[in-house]
Amino acid sequence: MSNLRFEAVKEAFKKKAVKVSAPSPVTSNYYGKYVFSKDRMAQFLSRETLRKLTNVIEKGATLNRNLADHVAAGMKRWAIEMGATHYTHWFQPLTEGTAQKHDSFIEYSEGPGSCIIEEFSGKLLAQQEPDASSFPSGGIRNTFEARGYTAWDPSSPAFVIDDTLCIPTVFISYTGEALDYKTPLLKSLNAIDKAATEVCQYFNPSVRKVFSYLGWEQEYFLIDDGLYATRPDLVLTGRTLIGRESAKNQQLEDHYFGSIPTRVQAYMQDLEFEGYKYSIPLKTRHNEVAPNQFELAPIFGETNLAVDQNLLIMSIMKKVARRHGFRLLLHEKPFAGINGSGKHSNWSLGTDTGIGLLTPGKTSEENLQFITFVANVLLAVYKHNALLKASVMTAQNIHRLGANEAPPAIISIFLGSQISSLLSKLENSNDYEDIIVLDPKQEIKLGISKIPEVCLDNTDRNRTSPFAFTGNRFEFRAVGSSANCSSAMIVLNSIVASQLIKFKEAVDKKIASGLTKHKAIFNVLKTYVKESKPICFDGNGYSDAWKVEAKKRGLDDETNVPVIYDSYIKPESIALFKSVNVFNEKELHARNEVKWEIYTKKIQIEARVLGDLVMNQIIPVATKYQSTLLENVLTTDQIFDKEKASRLSAHNMNVIEEISERITIIKSKIADLISIRKKANIIKGEREKAIEYHNKVMPFFNDIRYHVDKLELLIDDELWTLPKYRELLFIR
Ligand code: ADP
Ligand code: MG
Repeated sequence: MSNLRFEAVKEAFKKKAVKVSAPSPVTSNYYGKYVFSKDRMAQFLSRETLRKLTNVIEKGATLNRNLADHVAAGMKRWAIEMGATHYTHWFQPLTEGTAQKHDSFIEYSEGPGSCIIEEFSGKLLAQQEPDASSFPSGGIRNTFEARGYTAWDPSSPAFVIDDTLCIPTVFISYTGEALDYKTPLLKSLNAIDKAATEVCQYFNPSVRKVFSYLGWEQEYFLIDDGLYATRPDLVLTGRTLIGRESAKNQQLEDHYFGSIPTRVQAYMQDLEFEGYKYSIPLKTRHNEVAPNQFELAPIFGETNLAVDQNLLIMSIMKKVARRHGFRLLLHEKPFAGINGSGKHSNWSLGTDTGIGLLTPGKTSEENLQFITFVANVLLAVYKHNALLKASVMTAQNIHRLGANEAPPAIISIFLGSQISSLLSKLENSNDYEDIIVLDPKQEIKLGISKIPEVCLDNTDRNRTSPFAFTGNRFEFRAVGSSANCSSAMIVLNSIVASQLIKFKEAVDKKIASGLTKHKAIFNVLKTYVKESKPICFDGNGYSDAWKVEAKKRGLDDETNVPVIYDSYIKPESIALFKSVNVFNEKELHARNEVKWEIYTKKIQIEARVLGDLVMNQIIPVATKYQSTLLENVLTTDQIFDKEKASRLSAHNMNVIEEISERITIIKSKIADLISIRKKANIIKGEREKAIEYHNKVMPFFNDIRYHVDKLELLIDDELWTLPKYRELLFIR
């Protein structure tokens, strides 16, 4: 019988880079070709329709049926020109990725049997009722009322992919609860806009709107598709459940920023061309630290749009990978012992007057505003560090956090020496005149006006910090590579919005009691800096000493994922989300049910796959090799005298015994695993079940893997059927 592993390796070595060429030598010629952008709208909508739609998009005016009809007509004409025959509402359920159900444009012009026309009305554009009853809802939709509906989000442009017009939508239940990520994201963006705008008006009364910005850095692995196909664990769970570390992996750090392998280079180019067609401003690409690991990042943008673009590029990445004989891995930890993949989420706030609120400014007034926002972020993240952590926690990401170079499962903030010393001066100054001296030249004594030089040159970035200030933004590094960034962005924007509201109340109170505006702001900031100190940590986040220290400081250090989710339903979180109108209590409970259920299912699937792999591939191969050795021992016995035969067979006898022992252990562990799972499965309550899976089922994975990986080393390479780490990670 042939060994598929060797066939796959042989084929992989033969593959050459696929030739790719740009749709046009000038990127701007095809940039955004498939997006129904402002320019396209101007072409396909009447001036009146465009004006009204702009009002809806920018000012939140209501979208009436008549307007929707006009927009739909123009959109349809454009989409058909782009080759679309179908349309779909494109939404973001609580499972991963996006969901869509395609409908053709065709309708009978009059009754059945009449001629066919292309139809797309405002009603179909604005609202749909997908038969989406099997999406997780955490019990919000009972089976008899399993309906949810999708509604158009005009703030994110429609696009055509393949033959389908995709319309970004929210997904909500008939009773109004969010069943997706986009709905609460939009609400949180609204909340931060309102709260931040009010605070900005202390500094510049002409600010009318504050945007939240996101720049994601997408990490991923590329694996040869033939090798991938012969690893059932990769195919079914996205990660390798077994596999001995390769003798060489990332020790030499020779992959990081090294020259990009040619097949991968072609993939990246192809991906960029595709991304540009969808107005995704892809800017950087490079090798990452682990072998066969890479990164892609765009120019940052408004958060809602940036999230949609990330989800779209994730699906394009998968598709393009197939064209190049690769498979894309977005799992947070596909391989043990080397780096996992994250999606660093660079977050900032900016005004409609063009000022970055986390960017040190040019005037002292701007810099006081900058410090105001930094201090509010510090306090918000400090108070809600457990919740922020919960927002990025999944069954996959927990393997990454705290392992190799990923940030630990404890949230802290790195500020860098300049900002830290500035804040400590502020904290220790007793007289606000020390800090805020607004002399005629607008100089501020503390040197706030000099922040730009030091900060923009901020090169001492601490790579171990999960939440780091990087000159003009915070970089939230704990977000996982497969995640929808919305989850983190919802929490971040909500906690900062709520904090800014409290800040404004406190400052206004002081002003009412007779303090000047600057003095009032200064006094409140001083208490914030003091209070939020425990969250600030510039040291080595990977060290064990930090774990001890973080506990002393009262930072959340829970590592049990299902328990981490409890943060969402603590009274203070419920009050928080209610105060900024992002989630109600029912939604929070329902969403946690979904999180627990998904957690359990992921581990359940992994346990099954591991059981199958061990029983169908590992043990049979081990037994076969053992038989070969046994035969050898028997023949040796027949040929040589007893004493000599036993000397010559000593090594083989040891291996035979070791194989037997390991097989026995593995089999009994698999049996235990199955019976524990059976018990866990009948537990009522998603939370309790998930905790049982975490406490009882999870520990088996490493236990079993340990013995399997030992067998991999013992057994004849020719018999081993699963591609090894060295093949998965070094063939490209
Ligand atoms: P690094 O890996 O050094 O952190 P990258 O260039 O890979 O940097 O990624 C930085 C990301 O941060 C990019 O997506 C970039 O657009 C984004 N970014 C830069 N400035 C801001 C900002 N003010 N707000 C949000 N994102 C930003
Ligand atoms: Mg980064």
